[in-house]
Amino acid sequence: MCQYLGAKYCVVVNSGTSALDVAVHALGLDPGSEVITTPMTFVASANALLYNSLVPVFVDIDPITHNIDCEKIKQKITSKTKAILFVDLKGNPAELNKLREIAMQYHLKLVEDACQAFSAEYDRRKVGCGDFAELTTFSFHPVKHICTGEGGAITTPDEQLYQKMLKLRNHGIARNILAQSRKEGTYLFDMDCLGRNYRLPDINCALGLSQLKKSDAFLMRREEIVHRYKEAFQKIPEITLPSLTKRARSSWHLFVVLLDKQINRDQFFLQMRSKEIGVNVHHIPVYHHSHYAQFAVDRHDFPVTEDYFQRALTLPLYPAMTDADVDRVVHETIATIEILKTNPRVNESK
Ligand SMILES: *Cc1c(COP(=O)(O)O)cnc(C)c1O
Repeated sequence: MCQYLGAKYCVVVNSGTSALDVAVHALGLDPGSEVITTPMTFVASANALLYNSLVPVFVDIDPITHNIDCEKIKQKITSKTKAILFVDLKGNPAELNKLREIAMQYHLKLVEDACQAFSAEYDRRKVGCGDFAELTTFSFHPVKHICTGEGGAITTPDEQLYQKMLKLRNHGIARNILAQSRKEGTYLFDMDCLGRNYRLPDINCALGLSQLKKSDAFLMRREEIVHRYKEAFQKIPEITLPSLTKRARSSWHLFVVLLDKQINRDQFFLQMRSKEIGVNVHHIPVYHHSHYAQFAVDRHDFPVTEDYFQRALTLPLYPAMTDADVDRVVHETIATIEILKTNPRVNESK
């Protein structure tokens, strides 16, 4: 992992969620501290803050990249703000240079949720190499770029954080202490902090090693499919294609298009599913979930997130897709747009 990513230290754990929990825990922030984060992500990102008794402070997303809007971060910083937990949504790196500047200026820690961005690059360096964030987390869930069954990892350039995370994934027991006590023939060892059992089994690691070898090939195939989609859709006015900043190379975890407002996204979703095309919506804003009602977030403060959520549609994208599969998705997408333009309630009238 370190070799592939150009990272100094890496701790492998049993899920991306465990990776986020361990990363946030390792920072040792006081309970009640505020952490700035994005609402446009899978719930696990913000949940990691709740596990650690921290307060998520949501910031709206950028209208082009749909990652956290760096221009809107500063106005949410208070004396209680200690970190920024940002997400590389869809595999597209956030504006790492700007985030780093803000973090330096306000003395904040940076945790990068790159669970969707394994193999993505920024300024020709791999996400998680340690040049941008203190901590970068990855997921190896079956839907992610490489898979270990379930699994995850954290990379860091900081040796102290690394040692702390090794303990946190193993009940709070340092490995060298355990090894030492065995050598001395004693049953004694010490648990000096409250960790968990987040270890990744060897069987899963073996799968991960073979997957890692395929990572570059997976990415190249994803890029080919993206190219095919872009060529096919660029002249369709009802579709807004995803765009990246020049500095980024996405891992293309998701191919999300924005549908024009005149096309009802939910109807589009139903129509495509009825054709057995596995479209989806990523993601429901975190503050929409009932568990987050306690934070009394006003949806009106998140116009870009709300607009994106209404219009976003994820089209199928995975390395094993054939060109014929892609062409069928293209064909059905364009056909569905035509149907919904003339009959916006097609599914309800059935
Ligand atoms: C998948 C994902 C996670 C959680 O990873 P698991 O391995 O499923 O626990 C966290 N954050 C983001 C952004 C994800 O996409």
